[in-house]
Amino acid sequence: MTSAIPVPAMTAPAVVAQHVQKVYGSGSAAIWALRDASLTVHAGEFVAIMGPSGSGKSTLLQLLAGLDVPTAGTIVLHGRCVSAMSDDQATAFRRRHVGFVYQSFNLFADLTVEENVAVPLMLDGSRPAEIRVRVADALARLGLSGRREHTPGRLSGGEMQRVAIARALVSEPAVILADEPTGNLDSASSERVLRDLRRAVDETGRTAIMVTHDPAAAAHADRITRLRDGVFVDA
Ligand code: ADP
Repeated sequence: MTSAIPVPAMTAPAVVAQHVQKVYGSGSAAIWALRDASLTVHAGEFVAIMGPSGSGKSTLLQLLAGLDVPTAGTIVLHGRCVSAMSDDQATAFRRRHVGFVYQSFNLFADLTVEENVAVPLMLDGSRPAEIRVRVADALARLGLSGRREHTPGRLSGGEMQRVAIARALVSEPAVILADEPTGNLDSASSERVLRDLRRAVDETGRTAIMVTHDPAAAAHADRITRLRDGVFVDA
């Protein structure tokens, strides 16, 4: 007879950073941005990373995105070891699986809202018809359909950040990394941006990791973890 006891489904964590070190420079000029940072984030989780300025938060996000390589330690995103990839492999992986949102929005000033959101799909070689549908869908989800022909200069800061979120989501990445996404926004715009990020996690089971100084922003996350001098102090 087989057992009737249900076996819980085991899902692999979405993000695992193990004993990550990052040293900039060498010798007496060496800066230890990360000393021994370990972090596990499960699929569908929204985690906020807090910590004083210079504690290594941005460095960790860069490493998670495969934009730079750790000095030691490993980083695994969705079962793939990002820290062992070549530049080209990391770029291709990032385009498919990671959406990045910056404090300063990083939109192209000369492109319209819909052109900005289309950039990741164009880089990916998607077909024009598919790009149109997916961009329209991403803009509708962020409440930006009425802004699609505007250039960023005609938008508020909050709208610019929501365009950046639409651009981060348009490739349907498994992981969203956000570095101080509300750092340049007033509190009402911040709330809206955070609700949009929260919804992107809740509706699709995506994983989000957000660096923030702001306790009100961090309160939107499922969990807050703190870096100090390159080490997670609550891990
Ligand atoms: P946080 O995001 O918590 O403010 P950072 O990750 O930006 O911290 O920086 C951690 C430490 O690493 C700081 O001392 C910073 O000056 C240093 N650092 C960051 N990036 C570089 C770099 N590219 N070259 C040299 N030092 C850097």
